[in-house]
Amino acid sequence: MSDSVPLNPNANSYDVAVIGGGPAGAAAAAFMARTGLRVCVLEQKRFPRQKVCGEFIPPAGWRVLADLDLAPRLGRAAGPDLQYVAVYPQWGPELCAALPAAAGGLAARAISRDVLDSILLQRAAELGAVIFQPVHVNHVRGPTQTGFEVFPVGSPSPLRARAVVLAHGSPRLGAMNAVSGGNAESAGRPPAPRCGSGDLVCFKIHLENVRLPDNTIAIGGVEGLYAGLLRTGNSAPAADAGDDTCKNRACYNLALVVDRKLVRRYGSGVELYGYLRRHNAGFGRSLRTARFTGEFLSCGPMEPGVREVYADGRFFVGNAAGEVHALIGEGLTLALGAGQLLGRVMSEHRAALAAGKDLAIIGAAYRRGWLNEFGSRLHAGNAFSQVLMKPLLSAAATAYLHAFPDIFDLCIRWSGK
Ligand SMILES: Cc1cc2nc3c(=O)[nH]c(=O)nc-3n(C[C@H](O)[C@H](O)[C@H](O)COP(=O)(O)OP(=O)(O)OC[C@H]3O[C@@H](n4cnc5c(N)ncnc54)[C@H](O)[C@@H]3O)c2cc1C
Repeated sequence: MSDSVPLNPNANSYDVAVIGGGPAGAAAAAFMARTGLRVCVLEQKRFPRQKVCGEFIPPAGWRVLADLDLAPRLGRAAGPDLQYVAVYPQWGPELCAALPAAAGGLAARAISRDVLDSILLQRAAELGAVIFQPVHVNHVRGPTQTGFEVFPVGSPSPLRARAVVLAHGSPRLGAMNAVSGGNAESAGRPPAPRCGSGDLVCFKIHLENVRLPDNTIAIGGVEGLYAGLLRTGNSAPAADAGDDTCKNRACYNLALVVDRKLVRRYGSGVELYGYLRRHNAGFGRSLRTARFTGEFLSCGPMEPGVREVYADGRFFVGNAAGEVHALIGEGLTLALGAGQLLGRVMSEHRAALAAGKDLAIIGAAYRRGWLNEFGSRLHAGNAFSQVLMKPLLSAAATAYLHAFPDIFDLCIRWSGK
């Protein structure tokens, strides 16, 4: 959907090459291009494409989107304002609590990832970023005297840039993440440390005919499985948000985070869906008449924790920098916010970047800003998620939160919403 151009690495060199065109890469590219930097994005997949995600965006995320003038365009394709969270534990009482009131006129809303990612990347192109898509990058060399060389698969020569932004959403691309010390093929340091258990696999499906109020997000689970359900817009949303042919068919997103042992036992998303419906009364009720509108997608493992923010001329954004537990619904906001922060930092240091020097100073400023803005939110979110993931604890927690709803509000605030 974005204005992709044929890859011709010799045609140009860039101030910044962004690898990955998901929310983090597209936002970073958009904010940097807006300040006049010469930016390119290399994205391996054709858009629109779906992605495993709960698709919940709190007001803080919508504020970043509004800063890119995207709130009206995306708002037309998004679900309605989300005002309540229903907690469905396997055992113990159910809880329904109000989400904190909308801030600055922006409420939490959900939006399908095919729409969100396409329109964000399109916006980066509108602001001047050059998009290469579909282009898979398999190696980054540098920094050398002249900056970085980025090697797309199938291209005879590398693309050149003064700095590289890694927005590939993964901790596992060792050769790209490596500090090369100027040595071309060195894979350098080992892949980023595993921060989570690595035992959680994720699934997602879109559904129709769900019995859940439009303004409510349901969270909860059963032994070994956590689920989140919400209205995400309309059925089969078109990547062009202006298309309203499916306007009247409410679309819901169900995301599952599942212990690997349970995945081995049940084998597929459909079987896990049945397990959830049978053993959780709240989800059983909501999904009794539901129909799938697509296939189950899966990804994993999920590995929450902070990874790398800056290393040797490489700036990390989104999940490549740090992953927040899916349960918290904060990952998109962190991805968008990191893109916004990077745009600001790069713009403040544009002279140094243009001269191809002092990347370490720019990197230190970015790392400071990142840890300040996102570090504690990420840790609080990941700690909170540990409580809700355990069914027994979850029952205890909901009973406790029933008695003290202010604590729930506080948890929501700590985790960034
Ligand atoms: C089950 C689940 C539920 C979630 N629910 C929510 C939620 O409700 N709300 C929320 O805010 N967050 C949620 N998240 C988190 C959210 O999905 C992520 O935080 C977000 O996708 C991170 O964005 P990103 O741009 O860093 O990475 P990604 O979205 O993974 O994008 C990375 C992009 O890089 C591209 N790429 C990768 N490697 C290369 C390469 N070598 N060359 C070129 N391109 C490449 C990929 O194709 C992809 O498009 C959830 C996650 C899971 C797993």
